[in-house]
Amino acid sequence: MRLTRYFLPVLKETPAEAQIASHRLMLRAGMIRQQAAGIYSWLPLGYKVLRNVERIVHEEQQRAGHIPILMPTIQPADLWQESGRYNAYGPEMLRIRDRHDRDMLFGPTNEEMVTDIFRAHVSSYKDLPLTLYHIQWKFRDEVRPRFGVMRGREFLMKDGYNFDLTREDALHAYNRHLVSYLRTYERMGLQAIPMRADSGPIGGDDTHEFLVLAETGESEVFYDSEIAELRFGNRDIDYDSHEECAAVLAEFTSRYARTDETHDEAVWAEVPEDRRRVARGIEVGQIFYFGTKYSEPMGATVQGPDGSKVPVHMGSHGIGVSRLVGALIEANHDDKGIIWPEGVTPFHAGIVNLRQGDAATDAACEALYAAMTAKGLEPLYDDTDDRAGAKFATMDLIGLPWRVTVGPRGLEKGVVELTSRRTGESEEMSPEAAVDRLAQIYAGI
Ligand code: ATP
Ligand code: MG
Repeated sequence: MRLTRYFLPVLKETPAEAQIASHRLMLRAGMIRQQAAGIYSWLPLGYKVLRNVERIVHEEQQRAGHIPILMPTIQPADLWQESGRYNAYGPEMLRIRDRHDRDMLFGPTNEEMVTDIFRAHVSSYKDLPLTLYHIQWKFRDEVRPRFGVMRGREFLMKDGYNFDLTREDALHAYNRHLVSYLRTYERMGLQAIPMRADSGPIGGDDTHEFLVLAETGESEVFYDSEIAELRFGNRDIDYDSHEECAAVLAEFTSRYARTDETHDEAVWAEVPEDRRRVARGIEVGQIFYFGTKYSEPMGATVQGPDGSKVPVHMGSHGIGVSRLVGALIEANHDDKGIIWPEGVTPFHAGIVNLRQGDAATDAACEALYAAMTAKGLEPLYDDTDDRAGAKFATMDLIGLPWRVTVGPRGLEKGVVELTSRRTGESEEMSPEAAVDRLAQIYAGI
């Protein structure tokens, strides 16, 4: 993409309404625009990152054997009356009436609807296990929408639902989700720690939240420092294996790690004092096992192996897709701007032309652009007439992990400069070598 043809409305001033770094930087980098409290348009740069996060979530869900569907945002109230949650949900639910005076709502979550799909089409245990998920906009009329996309009213969520014959199988689905979530966050370059949580209005017994440690996080968290040392990496786990998934769960949840809702001073006191950490965190996901809470009232049963009808065991599992864009910035920025991890960056590298209009420099930039594109890389070429300082400032603000700087002085020696946004280190090399290096960096991502 050439910057002169793109739509990147960066702001010079720091927006006064933004209290935290990610919100400030998303506005300054022209990623989002607020349309109403907690409701945002995603501008091109922000939309690209959102789509990258979404793609990783899709890929990892499908790797775990979960099946994508798409349910609507608007739901009939009847389904929620069946489960008993229509009245229980409270003012967070946006209730709508259509022209025929039917009660509708903008879905805050989809347990009822997915259970309805299940009961209409599945009747035998032979069709289990089954996990359906979608990535869809949700609406929750939050009391205090704030921090940009971190606590919006309209937000994008991946929500998945498992249907199993037995409690044991459903607990395996729970463990499988935990493993797939660890992998998902690591691919984005984020560390998210599973912490024991409170089940809230979804209900149920077993639940963990995934928290990214950040000073601006809304949750207070208490954890054993040993848990923060653990890394999942890209371990190849057999998602069908109950043992392998259970072993990962045991490894990642056996040390103390809780949010303030479930914090227990007595158990905390047993953690060696030098390992006790109190910090803040951003919730980027949550998994629940809730058994037959919805299948029983809604009649989601299957015929078991002995011929009797039994309600299925379920769980639901969410990832905050749009919140993750904010969380990624909270975890990856400095005073100049964003520093995207390679896994989610909106462009692979920036090209900065130091002497726009100089025939040789322009030609070298064009050649570099073509060579990168030919290798499957997507560069953002700053071909504007701005001064070099302004071009660097924009690149630093929007946070592309790599920058290639092209100027007449370097070209005389046959070199360009490759700079890492994260370390600030630069290296001179031929344009071909720069393209090869970038192709290599992105090959494993
Ligand atoms: P919170 O405690 O932050 O209000 P929740 O526990 O009610 O969230 P879940 O029902 O677990 O939310 O939703 C799954 C995920 O969706 C959360 O882990 C979070 O990442 C994301 N999420 C929830 N509410 C919002 C919101 N208002 N804005 C953006 N993302 C959200
Ligand atoms: Mg939650």
